[in-house]
Amino acid sequence: MRRLAMLFLALAAPLALLAGVLLANRLLGTRSGDNAYALRFELPVAEGQIGLPQVEGPLDPTRPLVVIDAGHGGHDPGAGSAPGPGGSGGDLHEKDVTLALAKALRDRLLAGGGVRVALTRSDDRYLALEERSGIARRLRADLFISIHADSADDGHASGATVYTLSDKGSTQEASRIATSENHADTINGVALRDTSNSVSAILVDLAQRQSAAASAQFAGLIVREGAGRMGFRDHPLQSAAFVVLKSPDMPSVLFEAGYISNPGDAARLTSPDGQRTFAETVALAIRVYFGRAVAGGAVPSAAGSPGGVR
Ligand SMILES: [Zn+2]
Repeated sequence: MRRLAMLFLALAAPLALLAGVLLANRLLGTRSGDNAYALRFELPVAEGQIGLPQVEGPLDPTRPLVVIDAGHGGHDPGAGSAPGPGGSGGDLHEKDVTLALAKALRDRLLAGGGVRVALTRSDDRYLALEERSGIARRLRADLFISIHADSADDGHASGATVYTLSDKGSTQEASRIATSENHADTINGVALRDTSNSVSAILVDLAQRQSAAASAQFAGLIVREGAGRMGFRDHPLQSAAFVVLKSPDMPSVLFEAGYISNPGDAARLTSPDGQRTFAETVALAIRVYFGRAVAGGAVPSAAGSPGGVR
């Protein structure tokens, strides 16, 4: 009998937790929109963690924090590092393009004030994919954007694409690009671990659904603000299984800013004018995103005064 009672208690505790979580989700989730609350929990951290980058902007820690990730770096040049069969690529390396774009976006956000910003890397160094989102999670970022540029053998493909996380690619091309970007981790022999094993699958699932909705909202804002200013592909909103987007509780997008194998895109991505347009567009989308989030009570307002405190 006593054993039965203990068994009952052992089963009842997790069930009560589950019921509580589901009830909270229902009450909070339907009351004031997708971003009304945030679930945060600690995931197991890797041994030998790398140091955290500097957070720039207002000293007020309640201001929203954007972590900008310049894709690739160090021994991983990314796309366009070698001439392809059709003569594409060459001297332009994706890792340099992404770093320039990341810095332009950071500068634009800091100039507008009200938002805190950190770069996963500010020089030519290699970071494993998990380290990139890991840095953002350890800083408790409110938004994570990973910047990339693609390359195609024929040189004709052009335009930007905004990706959110999905198990399956929304198109074959989306799957191909995700496979290509994820390859950055296998070249260094870094094993990708499933960090969700030791965490309650229910909490992870809840947080993931909320993050997915917020990520999709932000991705849509980039395309909306960039319409007519930046070249997008025909279907610019895509999803695929990018490792760097797999944080369960942090809205994340991967922005393939264009094709460096395309002369027009390459000029846009490397010229001061093109980089300014990129930075203005994405910064505006970030401000609108945080403006909506604050309306839902999730994060403080990012609408700082012009030239606010840095
Ligand atoms: Zn890339």
